[in-house]
Amino acid sequence: MTTTTVEGLVPRMREICGAANVITDPLELRTYECDGLTAHRSVPALVVLPATAEQVAAVVTACARAGVPFVARGSGTGLSGGALPHRDGVLVVMSRMRKILEIDPVSRRAVVEPGATNLSVSKAAAPFGLFYAPDPSSQVICSVGGNVAENSGGAHCLKNGFTVHHVTGLEIVTPAGELTWLGDGTGVTTGYDLLGAFTGSEGTLGIVTKIVVKLMPLPETVHTLLAAYATTSDGGRAVSDIIGAGILPAAIEMMDALSIEAAEAAVHCNYPPGAGAVLIVELDGPTSEVETELATVRALCEAAGATEIRAADDPAERALIWAGRKSAFAAVGRISPAFIVQDGVVPRTSLGAVLARIASLSEQAGVRVANVFHAGDGNLHPLVLYDDASPEQTVAAEELSGAILDTCLEHGGSITGEHGVGVDKSRYMPKMFSADDLDTMQLVRCAFDPASLCNPGKIFPTPRLCGEVPGHRRAPHPAVAAGLAEIF
Ligand SMILES: Cc1cc2nc3c(=O)[nH]c(=O)nc-3n(C[C@H](O)[C@H](O)[C@H](O)COP(=O)(O)OP(=O)(O)OC[C@H]3O[C@@H](n4cnc5c(N)ncnc54)[C@H](O)[C@@H]3O)c2cc1C
Repeated sequence: MTTTTVEGLVPRMREICGAANVITDPLELRTYECDGLTAHRSVPALVVLPATAEQVAAVVTACARAGVPFVARGSGTGLSGGALPHRDGVLVVMSRMRKILEIDPVSRRAVVEPGATNLSVSKAAAPFGLFYAPDPSSQVICSVGGNVAENSGGAHCLKNGFTVHHVTGLEIVTPAGELTWLGDGTGVTTGYDLLGAFTGSEGTLGIVTKIVVKLMPLPETVHTLLAAYATTSDGGRAVSDIIGAGILPAAIEMMDALSIEAAEAAVHCNYPPGAGAVLIVELDGPTSEVETELATVRALCEAAGATEIRAADDPAERALIWAGRKSAFAAVGRISPAFIVQDGVVPRTSLGAVLARIASLSEQAGVRVANVFHAGDGNLHPLVLYDDASPEQTVAAEELSGAILDTCLEHGGSITGEHGVGVDKSRYMPKMFSADDLDTMQLVRCAFDPASLCNPGKIFPTPRLCGEVPGHRRAPHPAVAAGLAEIF
């Protein structure tokens, strides 16, 4: 490895990507200073927009040889600062690589470039009666490469699983610049499941250049039911009862009064007026099965105290119900100058207790919280509303946000369900994992990226180079000391 400054790389990057696809203008570089989490900003030294896997490999090789850090960026909708650029590094933007390369209806799979939007895969598959199941609410714009890096979920992941369950092959550029494949597209793993390790690694193990995904048959029937409740606890009871009855809906989502107010203001979704909470339950599958389950779900929702129930079975009615839910994050911008989208997980059975605790924390802090969540998965998205013109409110919102994660952990949950750790939550990792756990995870990272050039500074609170004795420990890893492992 030679050490060249990032400026020294510009001629080589122009050779690789074409001059028009290398950005050095300070004003244009600012376009890329943050992702969907705008609280963290860092202007990259250089932005490149490669058009092929070979160009990505050449870009990474140049960075690796020069010892310059690099960060991949898809559509920049991430909510944990994962695509936050390195100020002395190269930002590799995948938006020119957005082709759907193949739809194979017989094997029910698609091969796509990483910059393709999530929704574009389902649109391309629809003429064959197929769809791509993981459906983040940002699916109109977020990229499949970003979905792989974050192991993204969505409303329908309750039944269908997350991105990791639908990816069967990845072409990647390793942090050394080598173009290679993980997984053979069949979904069968022999040896270590490197595909599984890579999915959800938040852009720290290499750059994805092609993705093989499973496609699923479009369901014969879809029914969406909207149930209104006086409180989220009543709605939560319905969730437990539905799952307890052995029914696995495609989606179960809940919104509280504040998020309903915001969604109404933004998209006029016409939810029942005065509702303290709404529950959206979607059932899909063979018609006879869905009809039977629908009757049971309706009865359980009523028994849990629903004040109104609406059923939608035509696409327009369903779209209106979903418009409220899918617009909820952006919609709170209507009722608050700034907000933090929190992402935590709790066991379903703790939903009621955790929501009550969030309400009391919010009251104590004098900071409003709107709750929108994947109720079936126990994946909460509390939206912490504050005025960013007030330094006191900003601090109070940050503290409340952290206290919400502490509450999730106290109930046996997790600091993130689907938005990732990125730069934002690395400080919370030691609350969930021991120093040994974190060191072991970093050994995986070191195996892929010994020089720590690939999206450095993300996920881990105390990043270190491969083989470096951990600063906070000042002694070898116990497994090394016991002769059970070696750092290489
Ligand atoms: C309104 C809104 C709603 C959302 N709803 C959901 C939701 O329902 N479920 C959910 O899971 N998320 C949701 N998100 C979060 C976000 O959309 C997802 O995390 C998404 O997967 C990010 O994709 P992206 O293309 O924008 O990636 P970016 O934000 O550009 O990058 C995200 C991470 O992926 C890495 N990366 C990007 N491309 C590559 C690549 N080709 N190779 C390697 N690493 C790469 C980056 O380095 C970064 O670490 C939402 C966001 C918004 C703004």
